[in-house]
Amino acid sequence: MSQSILDTMPGTATGTLVVSDHLNFWDGKRIKPRQEKNAEPVFEPSTGRVLCQLIPCGAEEVDAAIRSAHAAYKKWSKLAGMERARVMLEAARIIREKRDKIAKLEVINNGKTITEALVDIDIAWQCIEYYAGMAGTLAGQHIQLPGGAFAYTRREALGVCAGIGAWNYPFQIAAWKSAPALACGNAMVFKPSPMTPVTAVILAEIYKQAGVPDGLFCVVQGGAETGSLLCQHPMVAKVSFTGSVPTGKKVMEMSARGVKQVTLELGGKSPLIIFKDCELENAVKGALMANYLTQGQVCCNGTRVYVQREIMPQFLAEVVKRTKAIPLGDPLLEDTRMGALISKPQLDKVLSYVTQAKAEGAKVLCGGEPFLPSDPKLKGGYFMSPCVLINCRDDMTCVKEEIFGPVMSVLPFDTEEEVIERANNTTFGLASGVFTRDISRAHRVAENLEAGTCFINNYNISPVEVPFGGYKNSGFGRENGQVTIEYYSQLKTVVVEMGDVDSLF
Ligand code: NAD
Repeated sequence: MSQSILDTMPGTATGTLVVSDHLNFWDGKRIKPRQEKNAEPVFEPSTGRVLCQLIPCGAEEVDAAIRSAHAAYKKWSKLAGMERARVMLEAARIIREKRDKIAKLEVINNGKTITEALVDIDIAWQCIEYYAGMAGTLAGQHIQLPGGAFAYTRREALGVCAGIGAWNYPFQIAAWKSAPALACGNAMVFKPSPMTPVTAVILAEIYKQAGVPDGLFCVVQGGAETGSLLCQHPMVAKVSFTGSVPTGKKVMEMSARGVKQVTLELGGKSPLIIFKDCELENAVKGALMANYLTQGQVCCNGTRVYVQREIMPQFLAEVVKRTKAIPLGDPLLEDTRMGALISKPQLDKVLSYVTQAKAEGAKVLCGGEPFLPSDPKLKGGYFMSPCVLINCRDDMTCVKEEIFGPVMSVLPFDTEEEVIERANNTTFGLASGVFTRDISRAHRVAENLEAGTCFINNYNISPVEVPFGGYKNSGFGRENGQVTIEYYSQLKTVVVEMGDVDSLF
């Protein structure tokens, strides 16, 4: 096999930048693109320099990867769950061993801070460990029928699953999709976002090193066209998609034509409700966690922060003080708490949301401007200062649309009934949060919020044991938790006659 991507990785933001362009992976090895047309540069967000070239896979390459995955599925699905578990545990071990290097490359390709990237890599191996533990437990049911007859059910793999990822958690998304898929006996062909093509290939290399059959976890590179090829390929049994609502709808339409199962993990505009009886310091910390992780580019962020009117002044004073104090800059430094946005267009889009918010009557309490770090090597990076908006109304664009940047909209409310109605007045339904010391209120609010997750007295914690997914336009299906096994397997019923056939004919 060619040299691992990890061994060719750039050292620091000032080091060599070009990683290999051979970022496809099937048949157990990295594969050079067949043709070099339509190559697009991939940037290092913190410097704006070119990291590598992205050369999209065409129909023949996607077909080759899917066939490679199908051959591997035939072998892998016949193994006992415990055998699959052993290989997956080895993959988790290798990730743990290489976590620092993987995290560093994730930072270089994504722009998030090293502190967050290390957590992402830890969650990735934990996810693989968690589903490895479940692989040996997959079982059916035995059902007794009259006359000694009986039936039993078998939980079987689906076949080749396609995984399509977003750019905000590149390695973690690849792990969240592949771990339950592989545990159930499936193979996966994964397409990362064209903006973050690198670390999924490392996961493929690690699965290979751990001992999966060649082809079991393949990586094809590309954008919309390559993604469409995956959704339409007749040998793909299921598509698990993470991305925006408009793309999710297209993925669902294409998958519907082939009657493929779909999991959609889409966008959000989640409400965070802070009652006056909360523990204020925790609520402030929760609001920051709900808005600023990964430069605000997190699907489940609580970006509509509803604060009960009586505590608004104290809340704002504390939130603004802490927002202004966030160390912003080189994401590879341990002390940095906010890095660069993913791309120049994304930075411009987020800044234009702030401009529009002001035009619609919002007031900027802090941030919302391009940020130039003092370090000259970062002068081409896509940085902005985190922003707190007040004087917001529910009908403003900044309150209705997913901004996907570090922009918090703060809105006052008076009563529980009112705030629940306002919180639910959205087509999204990914997450929600509530801060209160009143235990009955907390559970009542959680029950009434129309969202796939409700955090009580915290925000944005995603342990792998806990199911994650959306309501309404934020999608359906789940990732993580026991329930995800159902989304990567199908149930076969076997009916057994022990006597003679009682025929009507
Ligand atoms: P996106 O929809 O632009 O792209 C997502 C993926 O889909 C990429 O890999 C892209 O190449 C691919 N794609 C684009 N067009 C396609 C097509 N026609 N057919 C098949 N694939 C296609 O989203 P993004 O900008 O990469 O990510 C940001 C969005 O993702 C935000 O809306 C965010 O909320 C959402 N997101 C959701 C979750 C979740 O778990 N719910 C997690 C992370 C991100």
